[in-house]
Amino acid sequence: MKPQKIVILGTGGTIAGRAAAASDNIGYTAAQVGIDQLVADIPALAEGGPVTTEQLAQIDSKDMSFAVWTQLALRVSELLAQPEVQGIVITHGTDTLEETAWFLQAACSPAKPVVLTCAMRPASALVPDGPQNVLDAVAVARHAGAQGVVAVCAGTIHGAHDVQKVHTYQLNAFGSGDAGPIGYVEEGRLRLLRNWPLAKAERAQEAIKKIADLGNEGDWPRVEIVMNYAGASGAMVEALQAQGVRGLVVATTGNGTLHHALEAALLKAQAAGVRVVRATRCLNGQVLAKPGDAIPDSQGLSPVKARVALMLDLLS
Ligand code: ASP
Repeated sequence: MKPQKIVILGTGGTIAGRAAAASDNIGYTAAQVGIDQLVADIPALAEGGPVTTEQLAQIDSKDMSFAVWTQLALRVSELLAQPEVQGIVITHGTDTLEETAWFLQAACSPAKPVVLTCAMRPASALVPDGPQNVLDAVAVARHAGAQGVVAVCAGTIHGAHDVQKVHTYQLNAFGSGDAGPIGYVEEGRLRLLRNWPLAKAERAQEAIKKIADLGNEGDWPRVEIVMNYAGASGAMVEALQAQGVRGLVVATTGNGTLHHALEAALLKAQAAGVRVVRATRCLNGQVLAKPGDAIPDSQGLSPVKARVALMLDLLS
């Protein structure tokens, strides 16, 4: 059978970054090199079948915006509907990669693979990690049976639900917490440890329609994150409520615990109609629900992903 097409969407990040000196791995500017150039520098990519590229954005992902997310969700869902497209690879900065991954999984729930990849070193580095990551991501996108939104970095495949940036500098910068990775890419072959993310086509179409209807940044429901810590108070919650916030995710301590002052403010906001969700600031585990919990938990989503889920929920 003729191999199908893989589409690589460039959005910027360190993978497209440039520094003045090849020895400089941190003093670079992200989002400088075009996706065509990045792909042209990896001749082995074309060996498995056709690969096309599109420059969807060119940003440092610390500046990720709802406008770029809208563009991404709409283009990804258009491409997924084309029978000749086997899968999509998205080059992305590492800083907000996990948020985009969960946004696309929740919005598109794709039955084909959508693989985010990245780099910790700029393209100008003496030994850049981006080219191998892209090669591995394309191997995942070409794998028969692959589906859902995943991230590929340093030879490891992480699912959108669990992936999290866990290191500021090392090349193996992502983890999947106690859920563990989906698998590994070893010399172009996949060694799978668990299932791919689930595909839910009906829910996806509904979400994409809502996103397409949104006019601009300001129309996204405002959801903010507050955190529990020693000496926390209700001041942040009250200030956000006064500004008309629609949802609050609280990064709790431990298994959903909250300082009594913060909890009182959150309960008051909830009673006034603000949607409140408890996630945990712990890296592993999730908030376990107890009978009579006054504030719902995030179903295992980290605070930043619970925020994405709540925004999409408020949209519908
Ligand atoms: N600040 C960069 C970005 O997120 C970091 C990276 O890509 O590693 O775009």
